[in-house]
Amino acid sequence: MKLSCLSPSLPQIKPEILAEIVQALAADGCRLLLVAKPPARRAQIFSFGLQPRSSTPLEKNPLWQSILNSQTTTTAETLEAEVYPIDRICQHPILAPLSVSFEDAGIQSLLILPLRHHQQCIGCLTLFRSSSLRWTDAELKSARRLAVDLYLAVVQQQVEQMFQDRAYRDVLTGLPHRVLLDRWLSMTLAKMLPTGQVLAIILIDLDRFKNINDSLGHRCGDRLLQSIAARLKDTLCYGKRSATANSSSAIVGRWSGDEFALFIPELRDINAVKSVADRVLRCFDSPFVFERDFQVLKTNSLYIKIGMGIAIATEANLDRETLLHQANIALDRAKNNGRNSYKIYDPIDEAATSAASSQLNRLRLEQLLDRAVIDRKLFLHYQPQIDIQTGTIVGVEALLRCQDTHAKTINPADFIPIAEETGSIVQLGEWVIRAACQQSKLWQEMGLGNFPVAVNFSVKQLQDRSSIDTISAILAETKVSPTMLEVEITESIAIKDLDLTISILESLREIGVKISLDDFGTGYSSLAVLKYLPLDRLKIDRSFIRELKANTIDASIVSTIVNLGHELNLNVVAEGVETIEQFELLRSINCDAVQGFFFSRPLPATDLEAMITTGSYWHHNRSHPHNLRSH
Ligand code: C2E
Ligand code: MG
Ligand code: MG
Repeated sequence: MKLSCLSPSLPQIKPEILAEIVQALAADGCRLLLVAKPPARRAQIFSFGLQPRSSTPLEKNPLWQSILNSQTTTTAETLEAEVYPIDRICQHPILAPLSVSFEDAGIQSLLILPLRHHQQCIGCLTLFRSSSLRWTDAELKSARRLAVDLYLAVVQQQVEQMFQDRAYRDVLTGLPHRVLLDRWLSMTLAKMLPTGQVLAIILIDLDRFKNINDSLGHRCGDRLLQSIAARLKDTLCYGKRSATANSSSAIVGRWSGDEFALFIPELRDINAVKSVADRVLRCFDSPFVFERDFQVLKTNSLYIKIGMGIAIATEANLDRETLLHQANIALDRAKNNGRNSYKIYDPIDEAATSAASSQLNRLRLEQLLDRAVIDRKLFLHYQPQIDIQTGTIVGVEALLRCQDTHAKTINPADFIPIAEETGSIVQLGEWVIRAACQQSKLWQEMGLGNFPVAVNFSVKQLQDRSSIDTISAILAETKVSPTMLEVEITESIAIKDLDLTISILESLREIGVKISLDDFGTGYSSLAVLKYLPLDRLKIDRSFIRELKANTIDASIVSTIVNLGHELNLNVVAEGVETIEQFELLRSINCDAVQGFFFSRPLPATDLEAMITTGSYWHHNRSHPHNLRSH
């Protein structure tokens, strides 16, 4: 896989779709213009059947321009598309400059359909007829419906494409990121024949990057990561010239926050690996220079220390996990060195790691989870979801916490996967639903507001029909109305067995429970799933919100998701809102609700009650937007 294959591809509209539209509207040809917007930087034109003989694009004509730029009259409720039939081209005042090209092709009438919803015009479809037959009311009605269908199909493709591109590239550095690197590695290993060649994986970890971020600010951290990415790319190019490796197939990527990875196939021998590693070390010899002095440091340059862990694939070990594990072990050893250095994996290092102790920790955690319900080691924190226009609380998400034997709180990311593996998640899940419902009942009795409490569903709960009975029983026992309970599922667990998921979700909705799709945009099936699942809400994953700035790809994705969510009658919530800028942008694109540290961290029930009663989360932030950032 060459880096060049990784550039964003543009959505393609299949000719069959256009052929169907032409046939449905008794036309002889059509052309579809999609205006330039991310991911396509240029306008795109697709055509089918009869076309005017013109060298200049039709859409430059003032008639199309006025249609494309006109303000919409449609609303979310009506979703009625506009249509512009032109039965006699020759008599149309604005079309005069084009009349020859229409006459030459034998085109007598036109129908123009802008593809638009709210203020978002993504292009237009123009149909051509060789007869001067009037467009009937029935045809115009079908045309309106087709325009909506086509609009949705195109937007869906555009967002899917953006997801794909985004899934492969790190937004900040433009480098391929982990998902792609992983795929590349699997593919390369599968193709690697016993030729005596060597593949090297180099993991690079920046020393104390978190400190830099915290003390000099995120903007500086971001700039630094971009400069490092550029230097690493240069290093690989140099490799190409020196022919140490066939670097055209080498790849440099962002592995995680402050980790980069170099994957280099087709190396001659281990010495070639060392030579690449030395070059990488050298590119950190000189400082990274910034435009302005950092006040704290009184200088504008920074030296960065790194550690590198190298694993080498030979014929004997061609398995991805083993290689990555080895690279990590080597990285740990390199970092212990205390200066810029690299370490090539050596099996002796393995014994020195704390593998045995981590086994023990895991065993302890398994036992803890097994007894967590009985031992009362569980509790819930609640995070509010806030209406973006009014500041009203529209929901609260219950987030599970577990206390270890030293009363230290363990976060779900650390224990949910283990609970899922061991099966204790079923018991924990049931405990969460019951505790959340009991709390909801208390809040209703206190007259605190009428918002649903959301619980997160694990894959086991979603793929087990008995969850429906469990929920019904808990609702009856706690006397909570089903509409006050919301279940959050993620795309990746929903598609494990789509038919079963749909049937379980439908049963839950029949009872009255609300369903919300969590972390939207992180599962690669994305929009395809939306059409099938019975949903009430869409929660946009916080990775899209993190880098949200006006006129970025993420802003464009988020705005499109919001529009699409509304088309599908879904309420759209943005997760992980941390700043006033993110909040304002989300408000400007009509997102419905927000959840995030900007308003409140997940809190114990009593703290949340105080916050709701005083309304502090809203008034406080609107007047002192940055106050909560230092929480
Ligand atoms: P999630 O459902 O997407 O929950 C939101 C997570 O984002 C929470 O992490 C929350 O603390 C965090 N968060 C909220 N606002 C912000 C923000 O502004 N910035 C940042 N950086 N983070 C924010 P938490 O509580 O650690 O939960 C992590 C994940 O664990 C949850 O993600 C959910 O998938 C899972 N989880 C939590 N409770 C349960 C549970 O009861 N059952 C199951 N199966 N999974 C759970
Ligand atoms: Mg959730
Ligand atoms: Mg989420």
